[in-house]
Amino acid sequence: MTHINEKSVRRQLEKVRDEALHRYRATRDSLAEEVSRRNIGDALEDIDREVAATVSAGQLDADQRLIRSVDIALKRLAAGMYGICFDCRKPIPHRRLKANPLATRCLACQEETEAQSGSAHTVTPFYTEA
Ligand SMILES: [Zn+2]
Repeated sequence: MTHINEKSVRRQLEKVRDEALHRYRATRDSLAEEVSRRNIGDALEDIDREVAATVSAGQLDADQRLIRSVDIALKRLAAGMYGICFDCRKPIPHRRLKANPLATRCLACQEETEAQSGSAHTVTPFYTEA
């Protein structure tokens, strides 16, 4: 593990997690507030609230997934496995990790996984270069 600066990677990952956690809590709180106000208002307002609640729930899911991904990356970092492809065990190119610090596979293996699962699930890189 010579090409990874563990400290700076951990800082980046923790920052991503903190942001996701913060957003998760804010979304959850506003969703709870929305639900508690459910009984008031007319039908049209109810539809608006329904839409807002659905969007919020989707955001909660996305943030939960993101937080889980960061936890996995931090565990792999602690285990000295960070930056190593989950499948082929080769080092993930630096450029890819920089673009997405949560990448657990090299591009070739990632594409193969996505082709197999039939879904293009990728972790959205909320991460931005400081
Ligand atoms: Zn690979």
